Amino acid sequence: MLASERSTCPRMHCGCILVKDRFVLATGYNGSIPHQPHCDEVGCLIVENHCVRTNHAEINSLVQAAVHGISIKGSTAYITNMSCTTCSKALIAAGIKRVVVFSDFHDTLATKFYTESGIEITKMDMPEREIKYDLKSYISAKKTDKSM
Ligand SMILES: [Zn+2]
Ligand SMILES: [Zn+2]
Repeated sequence: MLASERSTCPRMHCGCILVKDRFVLATGYNGSIPHQPHCDEVGCLIVENHCVRTNHAEINSLVQAAVHGISIKGSTAYITNMSCTTCSKALIAAGIKRVVVFSDFHDTLATKFYTESGIEITKMDMPEREIKYDLKSYISAKKTDKSM
């Protein structure tokens, strides 16, 4: 959910983190490709009723791992929503072994592809707790007085 809050497409906030042996290997959220404008700046780019400006959270988590040379084979993908068909194929090809999701994403073949590939799907309830940041009392966020 925290990763999803970085999403820049107002149509869908989705987050994905890749975890192995309790280590977070990579994170992703719906966002434009680097150095391109974001939906929340210039509006969505709609093709056939889908916004195509962004990479989906799952793809961006795979991209982050690739950019940093991190093998995510055998890891678990924690995703806020069930993947679309394309993202499920990418995660499967990358060697993901388990998927944990909060909510369904209907009309896709993701569940079929995951199941046929022997990937365990775990549904979890959406967390009810809120995380609030109090930046006024957060010492690292305070502006320093450079003259001191
Ligand atoms: Zn968009
Ligand atoms: Zn997707």
